[in-house]
Amino acid sequence: FDQLRTTDPEIAGVVLGELDRLRGGLQLIASENLTSPAVLAALGSTLTNKYAEGYPGRRYYGGCAEVDRAEEIGIARAKELFGAEHANLQPHSGASANLAAYGALVQPGDTVLAMDLPHGGHLTHGSRVNFSGKWFHTVGYTVRPDTELIDYDEVRDLARAHRPKMIICGATAYPRLIDFARFREIADEVGAYLMVDAAHFIGLVAGQAVPSPVPHADVVCATTHKVLRGPRGGMILCRESLAQRIDKAVFPFTQGGPLMHAVAAKAVALREAAQPEFRAYAERVVANARALAAGLADEGMRPVSGGTDTHLALVDLREVGVTGADAEARCDAATITLNKNAIPYDPQKPMVASGIRVGTPSVTTQGMREPEMRQVASLIARAVRTDPAAPGGADTLAGIAGEVAGLVAAFPAYPR
Ligand code: PLP
Repeated sequence: FDQLRTTDPEIAGVVLGELDRLRGGLQLIASENLTSPAVLAALGSTLTNKYAEGYPGRRYYGGCAEVDRAEEIGIARAKELFGAEHANLQPHSGASANLAAYGALVQPGDTVLAMDLPHGGHLTHGSRVNFSGKWFHTVGYTVRPDTELIDYDEVRDLARAHRPKMIICGATAYPRLIDFARFREIADEVGAYLMVDAAHFIGLVAGQAVPSPVPHADVVCATTHKVLRGPRGGMILCRESLAQRIDKAVFPFTQGGPLMHAVAAKAVALREAAQPEFRAYAERVVANARALAAGLADEGMRPVSGGTDTHLALVDLREVGVTGADAEARCDAATITLNKNAIPYDPQKPMVASGIRVGTPSVTTQGMREPEMRQVASLIARAVRTDPAAPGGADTLAGIAGEVAGLVAAFPAYPR
């Protein structure tokens, strides 16, 4: 770091500023985590220099012996950890992994059945502004208005009516378990591939805190930087019969040279995730999310679907009378970082939204447990209800930020 400070004080200042932000506030973005120093060391290594188009043992460049070892170790760890027949660690991101899965399994113009965006689906599940919605005929399924759970009867009816070539399950803002066996049944009935987008919860699968999609899916796409706590990036798991198609869809169809420093860092994270402590961590992530959702409910902030089985809760703020966008800004002012989020059947536009999404991967990495989640719920509720434009509002938010600082001091992110 001293080298960076000497060469580029401006960027060194950004890095230090971000570290201060992480240390000084509450990080509740459900898709973020705090990587270990070992992961950061691999990411900041000379492996970033290497061109390695291709796969271990069949590269288009010389000098790949060392990076081959990193990728082989990573692949072996992923297969072992998830009980998968094949793993590809090269996707640059979750969206790249999904693009490769489309590339391997469907052709432009084919029908794909996936969760509607406003109900929790991801951009790559059929949004009109994304390749998925532009190049494919996507049909969206929803959650039931009464239970706010996936309506499997609707999924089956839509599958029968539209005969999709691929069905996607897995979401960005769905707090409950997904019945993969049920999706498999529906996919089999209509002859569709089943792609599980496990971007959000693959870390909970690694820690055995939720059921695995691997036995049910043709292809599992994931990110490595969320609950899994690895570097920013993607990963694909699949059956051996699809291995070649998936590998070719990642390279050369959607990507060029892999980021070998990131592949090595993924290998490190997979090793960490195979340790017994990671299993305890994953269980605590879920217990904390449940406690946080219950705490918010006690504060008059309704968790969508009544609670959570995972690492995140989606909270409906309509009763509170504050939009998601305002809630996000107020919490930001109190150094509580979370995001506005559409809730099912949201009357607001996505940039305003009626809800917020909160997640526990980062605070659990810091060592917080259920009692702290109760405190966090109270801090969020007070911040959300404080209008910074009202008399004394800004001072109240600053006071809450002071309480946040007191709480996180006992659970430091990246201890000095
Ligand atoms: N799939 C799902 C379900 C996601 O939630 C996300 C990101 O939040 C992605 C894919 C995309 O991941 P990335 O941002 O790494 O492209």
